[in-house]
Amino acid sequence: MWNSPKVGILGGGQLGRMLVESANRLNIQTNILDADNSPAKQISAHDGHVTGSFKEPDAVRKLAETCDVITAEIEHVDTYALEEVASKVRVEPSWQAIRTIQNKFNQKEHLRKYGIPMADHRELVNNTPEELAQIGEQLGYPMMLKSKTMAYDGRGNFRVNSKEDIPEALEALKDRPLYSEKWAYFKMELAVMVIKTKDDVLSYPTVETVQEDSICKLVYAPARNVPDAINQQAQALARKAVSAFEGKGAFGVEMFLLEDNSLMLCELASRIHNSGHWTIEGCALSQFDSHIRAILDLPIPPKSLELLQPSIMLNIIGGATPDSHLKATQAALSIPNASIHLYSKGAAKPGRKMGHVTVTAATMHEAETVIQPLVDVVDTMRA
Ligand code: ATP
Ligand code: MG
Ligand code: MG
Repeated sequence: MWNSPKVGILGGGQLGRMLVESANRLNIQTNILDADNSPAKQISAHDGHVTGSFKEPDAVRKLAETCDVITAEIEHVDTYALEEVASKVRVEPSWQAIRTIQNKFNQKEHLRKYGIPMADHRELVNNTPEELAQIGEQLGYPMMLKSKTMAYDGRGNFRVNSKEDIPEALEALKDRPLYSEKWAYFKMELAVMVIKTKDDVLSYPTVETVQEDSICKLVYAPARNVPDAINQQAQALARKAVSAFEGKGAFGVEMFLLEDNSLMLCELASRIHNSGHWTIEGCALSQFDSHIRAILDLPIPPKSLELLQPSIMLNIIGGATPDSHLKATQAALSIPNASIHLYSKGAAKPGRKMGHVTVTAATMHEAETVIQPLVDVVDTMRA
């Protein structure tokens, strides 16, 4: 039996909150570093939490004093503080993995060495219109200008349709370190949750993700109308990409399925991920359960990562009015087999992830039929 380990978590948002839910069921104490009353702290009453930010070295040092292993629900953390505390406490995944992954350009440069297919891209050094125009000549239009750091939910991306868009694109992403990516003409976006343990690299089934305004809206598990061969290839690619990094835990891998059925990596995250929320209802072990087990070297039977029933996850996102998400939740209450997860993040803002709903059914077709009325409600509330 394990020795009542304490897990420190950098970040207490919804991902941290769902990690706490999993840890609680195993009597594992989680010490959260974030603001008081953050979503994860609200469901965890003990005095081991730390008030502050995962970007403050002092706060990270303080958290390290309280736990046996540190993990993170977000990649935008102070990895220099993590490097420092790694001599005293286990850090999972490794600070090196988080440091490389948190910079999307460095992440891609690293993965290139392992032969991972991805969109051709170029680094900007001066962020001048001339430089970007030259890159545009090389990559063609449209191209996606991206911030290397602090990117999430597409905030950090700008689609450059032609040379004329260059001034607007540079203005939108000004003062950020940039690179530009060749446009990926995908027919579908896929994602795979990978679990790295002390001796294995495991994966959940391949899912289909649907982004709206660059924010994840829907996840279909398994990916619809995707042959098993592609499902397996996507899992293999995701495991290969994650194997390029040191450390244990969950990694979310986003991919493009191109017209010719080839796969390309979009990006990966060194953490539990929105594309894996469906595993709470869809599998015997959720991504959160698996993450906690992986970082503590507890057994993870691979069979527990198999899909039990087709699942669809719909994000509840802040909409046109401050109560849009509550109206969506109200509608979800009447949907059969719908599990509702609200994150208790306080005030909604347009585009802010406030919760999610997962519907499971005997067939994907049935799940689609059952969730459609809720998708319709959500669509009328868009900001
Ligand atoms: P996340 O919230 O997943 O961390 P992010 O802000 O890091 O998002 P990306 O994942 O790089 O951003 O891109 C967001 C979305 O933009 C992708 O899911 C995809 O729909 C679209 N996108 C990104 N890169 C490209 C590309 N090269 N070509 C076409 N579409 C792209
Ligand atoms: Mg990202
Ligand atoms: Mg992404």
